[in-house]
Amino acid sequence: MTDRRRFLATTLAAGAAALPGVSCAGSAAQAGKRRPRIVSTWDFGVAANQAAWQVLNKGGSVLDAVEAGARVPEADPKNHSVGRAGYPDRDGRLTLDASIMDGNGDCGAVAAIEHIAHPISVARRVMEKTPHVLLVGYGAEQFAIERGFPKEELLTPESEQAWREWLKKSEYKPSANSENKTYGKGKPGDANNHDTLGLLAVDAQGRLAGACTTSGMAWKLHGRVGDSPIIGAGLYVDNEVGGATSTGVGEEVIRTAGSFLVVELMRQGRTPQQACEEAVRRIVRKRMKTARDLQVGFLALGRNGEVGAYAIQKGFTYAVCDSGKQDALFDSTSAM
Ligand code: ASP
Repeated sequence: MTDRRRFLATTLAAGAAALPGVSCAGSAAQAGKRRPRIVSTWDFGVAANQAAWQVLNKGGSVLDAVEAGARVPEADPKNHSVGRAGYPDRDGRLTLDASIMDGNGDCGAVAAIEHIAHPISVARRVMEKTPHVLLVGYGAEQFAIERGFPKEELLTPESEQAWREWLKKSEYKPSANSENKTYGKGKPGDANNHDTLGLLAVDAQGRLAGACTTSGMAWKLHGRVGDSPIIGAGLYVDNEVGGATSTGVGEEVIRTAGSFLVVELMRQGRTPQQACEEAVRRIVRKRMKTARDLQVGFLALGRNGEVGAYAIQKGFTYAVCDSGKQDALFDSTSAM
């Protein structure tokens, strides 16, 4: 048993009791509810949740909390799928996507932004300081610089080396679950690493916010934008219902308006778990031939704190944080 496996097993044993309303691996049980609560995608979601929890715990808003959480993987030099040190596109350029949304409907996003270490904070400025929702590319970078964000080289020597390795074969075949340390291949050059931090928070009053940030698919075409900065695809939050976020092959999530779909299914009465399952099934039905090589995962949080998660393939992990436990990590159930 790997260290992570052991941690998961321990967490599940303790977490199943300590985290009512959380759907644990292999179980769709949704008994009980607890809020405030924060959930986020992948193993790196644990640290992101903890940063968000600190903000919430000190009386900060859900919006402040999700921004603080998203900044953690964005700053992590060991994380090659979000922010600084992300893997670049096929031209060797690191372009970042991020979005933020308040449960009252306000939202902001940046896509294919370069040289700015915290795209989530730029997305929030777009939301709060402009009449727009989405800024892209050079325009987004200029906007950030004008607002005082430092212009930086974000490509680390390690990420550049991985890109040079990839160039030798130049194969583009996205691999699943790179941020799950057990399943992810994560080897520079031979795996097209991707993954996204999607984070959702609900406070004691049932107010929600969400954040989503990624460097997208490694070795993508320059200019490619995934689901993460597209409101309704990578992220959607509504105080009346709950929120959803996604990770995996963004093109499939955009095609199904995935996060919006999950929230709308919840609005119609599905639990967060059922809504995530239905959204995944729609993708699988349309992609029968390729689904086996495809990973998409959805994570949802109801306004009452109920959690759901589901993915096409095994290996999608998500982190849950509330007053009972701040470091819980779960394996989602999956279609395959
Ligand atoms: N959804 C992201 C994108 O397509 C990548 C991922 O989460 O794996 O850009």
